[in-house]
Amino acid sequence: MSLDFPTLRSRLLAWYDAARRDLPWRAAPGAASDPYHVWLSEVMLQQTRVETVRPYYERWVARFPTVQALAAAPLDDVLKAWEGLGYYRRARNFHRAVQEVAARHGGRVPGEPEAFRALPGVGRYTAGAVMSIAFGREEPVVDGNVRRVFARWTDDPAPAVDAQWRMAAALVPGERPGDVNQAVMELGATVCTPRNPRCGACPVRDLCAAFAAGTQNERPAPKKAKPLPHEDTAVPVIQRGGDVLLVRRPVAARLGGMWAFPQAIRHDAESVAAAAERAAAEGLNVAVRAGEALASVDHVFTHVRATYHAVRCTVVSGEPRAVRYDDVAWVPWARIGDYALPVAQKRIAALAGPHPLA
Ligand code: SF4
Repeated sequence: MSLDFPTLRSRLLAWYDAARRDLPWRAAPGAASDPYHVWLSEVMLQQTRVETVRPYYERWVARFPTVQALAAAPLDDVLKAWEGLGYYRRARNFHRAVQEVAARHGGRVPGEPEAFRALPGVGRYTAGAVMSIAFGREEPVVDGNVRRVFARWTDDPAPAVDAQWRMAAALVPGERPGDVNQAVMELGATVCTPRNPRCGACPVRDLCAAFAAGTQNERPAPKKAKPLPHEDTAVPVIQRGGDVLLVRRPVAARLGGMWAFPQAIRHDAESVAAAAERAAAEGLNVAVRAGEALASVDHVFTHVRATYHAVRCTVVSGEPRAVRYDDVAWVPWARIGDYALPVAQKRIAALAGPHPLA
């Protein structure tokens, strides 16, 4: 069906002016946005809910208030500030991108779409959001909220990605392109929600084909979730006196740059104890003896489900070296909270260590 974009635009802007949420990264109506703050919020909000992001955002801006402050910070500090938000690749890429902005653009976030998109980790969505919201450029955005709203406007059970970007590109030109983009996303987040949308409060319901057909709850049709592969992972918790061994994961790996316990995926028919000893031998060039089982922790990543089996281990011979890791450290149990650890590793530490984590 063809959509009346001028009417959609003007209704959305009027609704947004009245109903928009007050969020710490949003400039007051009519005021200029800080591109670094807009960019940061967009990176944090990918895959993460607004209420989760809010305290992280506020702490981050207090700690790294400018591009220069973030660019100068060590990766360890950046990952520590991100700890608990997950999808750590976002933080690493953002840090690298901001360092490039400091080094190559004089600390000014580039407002030209091509230059901005050339930065690490900047995809089509982030570019559209930052260009339109912070620089007033007529650049489209499509995220999960936009996808759902568009699927309902057109009563399309399985909208094609390209068609959705074309719709977004047709909607955005005109006054206040950043607010138009934010209005669609806000509508999806607060009114046109995945289940039981509040169509009675919707400013565009007379233009919505799914509302007319009564199919709102089936648009878009839910995708069938594929079962995730499962990894059984042995985690040697190697202790010496009151210290435990942590490793820093290679930057290019899953959870790269984060601190963690060493680990190895268990082979078929291999015992957890044998896999824990192999993890130490291969990853650290050290012989350990596996002892008692300490804990099992499940964690779901985007593409895989993991079960971590923590096993107490003691060094038999050798001094651990970072063979498959970027660094190793003997850390007093009481200081483990100073290190940026992924959620599952924190749980292992809390279950396996003598000191509960702060
Ligand atoms: S009428 Fe209902 S389904 Fe259609 S856009 Fe509005 S809230 Fe969404």
